[in-house]
Amino acid sequence: MPELPEVETTMRALAARLRGRRILRLERRVERLRSPLPPDLERKVNGRRMVDFSRRAKYILIHLDNSDSLLLHLGMSGRLLFDGAPRGRHEHLTFFCEGGTVLRFVDPRRFGLLLLIPERDLDGHPRLAGLGVEPLSPAFDGTRLEALLAGRRCSIKTALLDQRLVVGIGNIYACEALFRAGISPRRRAGLLGPRRCARLARAIVAVLEEAIAAGGSSLRDYVGADGQAGSFQNDFRVYGREGEACRRCGGMVRRIVQGGRATFFCPACQR
Ligand SMILES: [Zn+2]
Repeated sequence: MPELPEVETTMRALAARLRGRRILRLERRVERLRSPLPPDLERKVNGRRMVDFSRRAKYILIHLDNSDSLLLHLGMSGRLLFDGAPRGRHEHLTFFCEGGTVLRFVDPRRFGLLLLIPERDLDGHPRLAGLGVEPLSPAFDGTRLEALLAGRRCSIKTALLDQRLVVGIGNIYACEALFRAGISPRRRAGLLGPRRCARLARAIVAVLEEAIAAGGSSLRDYVGADGQAGSFQNDFRVYGREGEACRRCGGMVRRIVQGGRATFFCPACQR
């Protein structure tokens, strides 16, 4: 599933190619993805200029010149791809854009989402209202993280996946950030203390920024909008490396299950 770096990479590619351009025509081949597509989508979107692009958590926002926004989520397997050949029955939406660019939404499992929301309703929209802090915003640091974790009895690994606290961190980047911070994934979230929280906040920012610079992580079939795979999976220090040597101490990377999800960590380096 795409996490923050993959969504950010995709959003930046869209902005670079399409900012300021019009959607000439939108074609749909399905009536619903995870939820029904808006019935009047084409009427409201065709001819509109895409004035800006942004990301909130794992949602891509396309801001239109009529004060509506398209809210897009890639779900489990969704991809936005420029041009290329049509992707058969899994290409559910096609945006024909000014300047000849074709943007295809391809989603074999159909867990993706496309909604049209008036700009003024975005902040209070049920999909966005309960979301936690953006880890790459100035508002996020060790002090903020410690406040968010206060009183939480779950493990720090499980807390990092809670999108009501901090958004966009999934299983991969939670494991990688905890390794870089030298913190055991089993520590109780509410008892980390200020020094560990500061270290962890710095590690989260560093790992996300490195992953964005690498174009995200390509596991299974994730590719960016230009069809390029990301390369951050080559830099994983613990994720998916059960039984392999820790890159820091040479000990063995272990795998445990927490909250139903696999956690990879080095028991020697992470305390
Ligand atoms: Zn180690």
